[in-house]
Amino acid sequence: MTTMTLRDVDVTGKTCLVRVDFNVPTEPGTGRITDDSRIRAALPTIHYLQSKNARVVLCSHNGRPNGKVVEELRMTAVRERAADWFGTTVVDAGLPGDGPAAGPNPALVIGNLKPGGIAMLENLRFNPGEEANDPAFAQALASLADIYINDAFGAAHRAHASTVGVAEYLPAVAGYLMERELKMLTRALESAERPAVAIIGGAKVTDKIHVLANLAKRVDTVLIGGGMVAAFLKAQGHGPGVAKISDDDVHTAGQLLFSSDASIMTPIDVVVAREFREHSTPRIVDITAVPDDCLVLDIGPKTRASYADEIIDAKKIIWNGPMGVVEWPAFAEGTRSVARAVAAAPDAFKLVGGGSTVAVIEEMQLRSEITHVSTGGGASLEFLEGKVLPGVAALDA
Ligand code: ADP
Ligand code: MG
Repeated sequence: MTTMTLRDVDVTGKTCLVRVDFNVPTEPGTGRITDDSRIRAALPTIHYLQSKNARVVLCSHNGRPNGKVVEELRMTAVRERAADWFGTTVVDAGLPGDGPAAGPNPALVIGNLKPGGIAMLENLRFNPGEEANDPAFAQALASLADIYINDAFGAAHRAHASTVGVAEYLPAVAGYLMERELKMLTRALESAERPAVAIIGGAKVTDKIHVLANLAKRVDTVLIGGGMVAAFLKAQGHGPGVAKISDDDVHTAGQLLFSSDASIMTPIDVVVAREFREHSTPRIVDITAVPDDCLVLDIGPKTRASYADEIIDAKKIIWNGPMGVVEWPAFAEGTRSVARAVAAAPDAFKLVGGGSTVAVIEEMQLRSEITHVSTGGGASLEFLEGKVLPGVAALDA
């Protein structure tokens, strides 16, 4: 890995602008934080900076305020939760640059920080310059610090002022979370650990089919599940039921099936239902017998067994996306059996990503059996697709 990290710079006594991904999920209505794992994930970098008597200026976006101050999207609750985890006060530092008045004067607040002290800027997206990657806003951010540290892996696929622009004006390095994500994702794509198995499912078929195309060049076996199954069924000349699938996806699926070096395994049986409803009657059918008026909502029992055989023997496993509609018990067993097999695979490197996939791992209490759970949904998919992330490319090499 060529990106410079926190280990490569001397932060002692410096003021560090740290881009974090504190865009945490909240309960609609109350704004209560439902999952603070993104805040906890920043702890290694924060503790390190404090141990070096650095002044820490955290910054993040929160939701989609579209360049305006939106009261419900202020960082107040995040700042309070962060203070609990860091065991110290986190001062509100407002936002720099021209734009909506969003709080106190950042330069004053930061100038008053003691060594090891922590401040947090207001929601970066309150300023339209953030998403536009406006050089004036990037410079205003840079003027607040001596060093820029990007620890927001989940935002690294966006070219915004706080992820790309600011890096032009300051020494720019990866924080510990960013470093670990890059190391693990690079290992997933490039290590020689064999046999390697990729498991791809979920609902974002069009996005993920390209991830699949890149992974098919780098692993021995690809196991297909989720909404993508319909595209593969159609490409194989089977009835895909009533799922809406684009011709492009069917075309890509066909190319993968017939020309990729990896073995692409598709289900041999599936669970179908007439309607996309939790209590639709589930029916197990062979792949050659998917009724025209049904939807494929999970992989079937024969498929689960054959996928588990591949997974158990693997030395490298990359998993993104549930095998079926895992939120509904009647269509959850495919995903749960894959999760059990991944957890049970002995001595394998295991990387799991994707919001719903990670939620299943958490709910089944299998996290300790997984080598790396990737935090950034879109960013990890783009990385696995083989793209260079702009927020990574902007860091010093
Ligand atoms: P992740 O969050 O793990 O990246 P996605 O966001 O791509 O995965 O998709 C997750 C969603 O996919 C889940 O809500 C799940 O119910 C849905 N899903 C899985 N299989 C199917 C299917 N066959 N038909 C419709 N939706 C599906
Ligand atoms: Mg998702």
